[in-house]
Amino acid sequence: MMRLWFERALLPTGWADAVTVEIANGLVAGIAAGTDSADADERYTVAIPGLPNLHSHAFQRAMAGLTEVRGPVGDSFWTWREQMYRTLDRLDPDDMEAIANMAYVEMLEAGFTRVGEFHYVHHDRDGSHYADIGELAGRMAAAAASTGIGLTLLPVFYAHGNFGGQPPNNGQRRFINDPESFARLMEASARALLGLPDAVLGLAPHSLRAATAEEIAAIVPLAQGGPLHIHVAEQTREVDDCLAWCGRRPVELLFETTEVGERWCLIHATHMTHAETVRLAHSGAVAGLCPITEANLGDGIFPADAFVGAGGRYGVGSDSNVLIDAASELRMLEYSQRLARRARNVMAMAEGRSTGTALFDAALAGGAQALGAPSGIAVGNAADMVSLDAELVGENAAALDRWIFATPRPAIDCVWRRGERLVERGVHRDRDRVTWRFAKLLDDLAA
Ligand code: ZN
Repeated sequence: MMRLWFERALLPTGWADAVTVEIANGLVAGIAAGTDSADADERYTVAIPGLPNLHSHAFQRAMAGLTEVRGPVGDSFWTWREQMYRTLDRLDPDDMEAIANMAYVEMLEAGFTRVGEFHYVHHDRDGSHYADIGELAGRMAAAAASTGIGLTLLPVFYAHGNFGGQPPNNGQRRFINDPESFARLMEASARALLGLPDAVLGLAPHSLRAATAEEIAAIVPLAQGGPLHIHVAEQTREVDDCLAWCGRRPVELLFETTEVGERWCLIHATHMTHAETVRLAHSGAVAGLCPITEANLGDGIFPADAFVGAGGRYGVGSDSNVLIDAASELRMLEYSQRLARRARNVMAMAEGRSTGTALFDAALAGGAQALGAPSGIAVGNAADMVSLDAELVGENAAALDRWIFATPRPAIDCVWRRGERLVERGVHRDRDRVTWRFAKLLDDLAA
């Protein structure tokens, strides 16, 4: 049994003072407020729960900052995607693991304690299957094991190049499965997760461009009750292509062909009519918002006030991993709404409510639902916690608002996963080793 003591801690019931957290076997075994610090093993100032990062493509961290030079024709999501395919052509399994190690170290340092890895690169560089079809899923699991982050692995089903079951293009050859090879991939993925204490296995049809409704119906049972994620309506061209093909919009089509409920997480869902927005909100599914990536790729702005006003649930993800920072995702979400609506405190949703608290609470609950793992500092949950630098955020109820909107430098002090302190003074214990390997890989890619 280990005891940590905090001057203030954010519990499911709100902020509490002088909190002792007891930890046994990686789980929170007891919580008591108004306690004396004398019995504690270690003392800290401000504690908040670790946030779930509900959407990541770890390998894309290797492209971060390398796609910001203007090309010959209008730069867009689609020209970025060609650059992404070219990077991918060069990465082998060791590279993929090294990049994931870097991304997961940065996630932990940024206050994310679990990642939803939307894992769609499965095959060798020529598109042939590895001897173990789960080779690269195993590399993601190995990166989670060595860095300590919680993992919800979402093997991705990808079969087509566009709506209507069109053939994939050459850049997509490392992603492609049919339902039969995907079933083997799911079995291999389950084996890859065996050594991780609280890993979760779900699955993800990549998008309605890459998977038909019939294929989605065929693979969903393979999740065996686990989370189901899909990219949808990220780009206006995707909406136009869908309308041209079937006369319906992507979110509309998904609801018509699939039973969308609480196990589902719709990534982006940026371009929806009001009717689609309300329908998604009422379904109980989570909207997986990736505000920094959506801004970086020029996707558009999610209709958050209408969605949350209708009772919609959301969480945040770092997606392309161009910048990995929990507070910045939440800030970007709120600021995009302010700019679009010419209003302030949009996501607070109620008079007298702190915007930072509203954003954090929603992302904590929505992320937990989407990743199939409970979150929050509560008895029985994994002891996944973050301590903030009290000099930067203060110790009053405005700590979350200050962390999200007003700290000039990273405010995270320590991060615990299953009670183990992985980050201290803002630095992950493996940072030097992981960074050295990652820097070498970037040099090789640039050569
Ligand atoms: Zn994505």
